[in-house]
This record gives sequence, structure tokens and C-alpha cells, in this order.
Amino acid sequence: MNAFLGNTLQLLRRSIELGGFPPELYEFLSRPKRILAVSIPVRLDSGGLAFFEGYRVQHNDALGPYKGGIRFHPEVSLADDVALATIMTLKDSLAGIPYGGAKGAVRVDPRRLSPRELEELSRGYVRAVAPLIGDELDIPAPDVGTNSQIMAWMADEYSKIAGRNVPGVFTAKPPELWGNPVREYSTGLGVAVIAVYAAKALWGSSDGKTAAIQGFGNVGRWTAYWLEKMGVKVVAISDVNGTVYKRGGLVAAELIEKNRNARGPDLLSQVAKYNDASIAQDPGAVFGIDADILIPAALENAITEDNVKLVRAKLVVEGANGPTTPEAEKALYERGVVVVPDVLANAGGVVMSYLEWVENLQWVMWDEEETRARLEKIMADNFKRVHQRWVQEKGWTVRDAAYVIAVERIYKAMKARGWI
Ligand code: NAD
Repeated sequence: MNAFLGNTLQLLRRSIELGGFPPELYEFLSRPKRILAVSIPVRLDSGGLAFFEGYRVQHNDALGPYKGGIRFHPEVSLADDVALATIMTLKDSLAGIPYGGAKGAVRVDPRRLSPRELEELSRGYVRAVAPLIGDELDIPAPDVGTNSQIMAWMADEYSKIAGRNVPGVFTAKPPELWGNPVREYSTGLGVAVIAVYAAKALWGSSDGKTAAIQGFGNVGRWTAYWLEKMGVKVVAISDVNGTVYKRGGLVAAELIEKNRNARGPDLLSQVAKYNDASIAQDPGAVFGIDADILIPAALENAITEDNVKLVRAKLVVEGANGPTTPEAEKALYERGVVVVPDVLANAGGVVMSYLEWVENLQWVMWDEEETRARLEKIMADNFKRVHQRWVQEKGWTVRDAAYVIAVERIYKAMKARGWI
């Protein structure tokens, strides 16, 4: 079996056993409810015709319509897509929103397509999966390799097929096309909210606590921005080029605001220059920084058996997906370091998707502040539920508590429906 799917199913089995749910639940949740495989023809600029393989995996809809991103990646497989759809079922459940889990994928390297080819592929994907998606059936969003422009093309294509505007069928659309401005920073804002609540739970207050952040992309930079606003001192930030460190705290907020759309290494060097701080060439130096909170927000498998001994923080908040390997998490647990898992900490994006969808279904538009307040409340409530369960159960990790709560909500819905 594909390793990623194998690990996902192992995590699912463990949560079902820990929570004392019937084994039949594993039989249900280890299989997606429906898989659609499609072939998408695209006329290339060179004149030739290329065919791209795509999927939409609908894993479980006990809690509501299917929800999950669409990934454009050259190495994606159907098994990966099944694993990702399964994780979405759990993530949506934990977030307390009325969604089941799904995921879409197209095997393509989007960087090798021209803008016109990319648009044709995006529209072709929608035509291929249109019978199985809809604003009350399955609501896709961006993932790796897709963005708000692609969502705009997709929403437009679906609306053409329907013969009317259907804003609620895709989320994370541009603000001009029924999107919401909070979306851009929603994941980072959510990570910051969770980090602050976790700090309060551990130490009584988050004021003056310090944080080190790995990654300065969408998640890392907005986490830094909001942590600063919430009174946490960000003492280190790293990206693929290096680590910037300043004991007294970096000031990143203003720079980020000014460079909202900047990408690449420039922003990190600007942070260094602006703060009169130096850049260590080693991106891994961020793990050894003396800070209260460590936030891996770059990529998976970042904290491993090899570098876990460097970690000095007492709290790790996972901004990225899967940044802590199971071996590293075990080592951290034994040292009393609390790891707040990705499924809880980085759910701000999907919670924002839910809010955008609610706006779209009613044709209402909330302003930025109102949206932000709703997002922060949902994230805070999610943290409180997981924390409460975690303190009750001796020997559990926070991840255990989060997964058991997620499985429990799905189980109750399935039971109420008479599926199990
Ligand atoms: P991104 O591509 O915008 O940024 C990634 C950042 O990581 C860049 O700053 C890059 O320089 C840095 N990086 C890469 N390798 C590094 C290394 N070895 N050391 C230090 N830094 C390194 O990506 P993103 O959207 O910020 O996503 C980051 C993670 O969060 C991914 O795991 C993603 O799946 C997850 N995530 C993202 C969202 C979202 O809304 N963007 C939501 C949930 C989860």
C-alpha cells in the first residue's frame, strides 16, 4: 500500500481504538464513499493535444456536503488523493463545521503550462467533475499548485454549465468574485490564535512569550504578523535560504503588510535589514533557537529523529501539514514538550472557506473585521474542546485528543443517520 495512505489509516485505526468506537467504524472510514477518475484534454500552445489524469475522491458526507481542495501536482496518485480526502473528513469534523471530506487532484506540473493552458485545464476539470460537485453537494477549494485565480475560472465554468451564477460551489475565490479578504491570511491567523490559547493553557498567559517560526510563505508570514499583534515576541523566522534571529523580537508586521504579494527570499532579507538582524545561512538553525514556542510552518517531516534534540521550545504548534514525524513527536512527548497538531492548528483556511460559503449561499458580504471575529471564535472554541479532552485523558497526546474528537463527531452523525 502507498505509505501516505497506510500512515493515514494507521492514525484512523488508533483513534478508533483509543476512543473505544466499534471496529465497524474503521471499516466504513477506511474506504471512500465515491471515486471519480477523469481524463482532461487540453489543446497545447504548440498545437498538440495533451491528456491529464484527474480525480475527485468523496470520502464521507455524514456531517454535510463534501469539502476539500484540488491539487495540481506532477506526482499525485489516486492513493494520495484517498489519504488526503480521509484527512479532510477528520479535519472538517474537528473544526466543528458542517462538512464531510473530499479531495481532488490532477497529475500535472502547473508551472510547465502557459496561463491559457492552465485555464483550459482548470475549466476542463470542472466540466469533467460537474455532475458530482455543487454548492450543497461538494465544494472544492485550492490546495498545492492551485490558487484563487484557478478558483475564479472554476466557479465561472460551473456557473456557465448551471446557466446562473453559483458562488458557493468553490471557496477561496478572489474578493472581486464573491471571495473574502480574510482568506489570504486565514491559516496564519488561525495558527496564531491557537498558539496564544495553547500558551495561556500552559503558562497562564501568552504575554511576552517568544516564538520561532520555520517558513515565511503564506502560513509562516501571517502567523508572524498576527502573533506580533497578539503580544507574542517573534524572535526568529526562517525560510529555505536561512534564519533571521533577534533576541529582543523581530518586527515583521509592517513589512508583511507592505509586501502582501511578495514571494521568494527577498522578504526574509528585508526583515533582517529592517531589524538590523543577521541571517544565519542555515535554515535549520530555527529549531535550536531559545524560544517558548516553535512553529514549523514550511513543509512536512521538518522535525525528525535527527534534529529533535535541538528543540528548546516547550510548545510546538504545527502550522504546516505533518511537520513532526511520529518518532520526533514521541521524543518530544517524553521530554514534556506539548505538540499542538496540524489538524487543529492550521484549520483556519478551511474554517474561512466555510465562512465564505455561508456568505455565498445567502448572497451576503461580511466586512473584514466581522469575518475575522467569526474565524477567531471558531478556532478558539476548537482549541478549548481539544484541550479539555486532552487534560482528561492521561497519557494522550494533543493529537490523540484531536483525532478522537473528530472521529466521535462523525460516528455520532453516522449513528443518528442509522448508517452504523
Ligand atoms: P508556501 O509555499 O507559501 O511557503 C513555504 C515556506 O517554507 C517558504 O517561505 C519557503 O522558503 C519555506 N521553506 C521551504 N523549505 C524550507 C526549509 N527547509 N527550511 C525553512 N523554510 C523552508 O507554503 P504555505 O502555503 O505557507 O504552506 C506551508 C505549509 O502549511 C504546507 O505544509 C502546507 O500544506 C500547509 N498548509 C497551508 C495552508 C494554506 O492555507 N496556505 C493551509 C493548511 C496547511
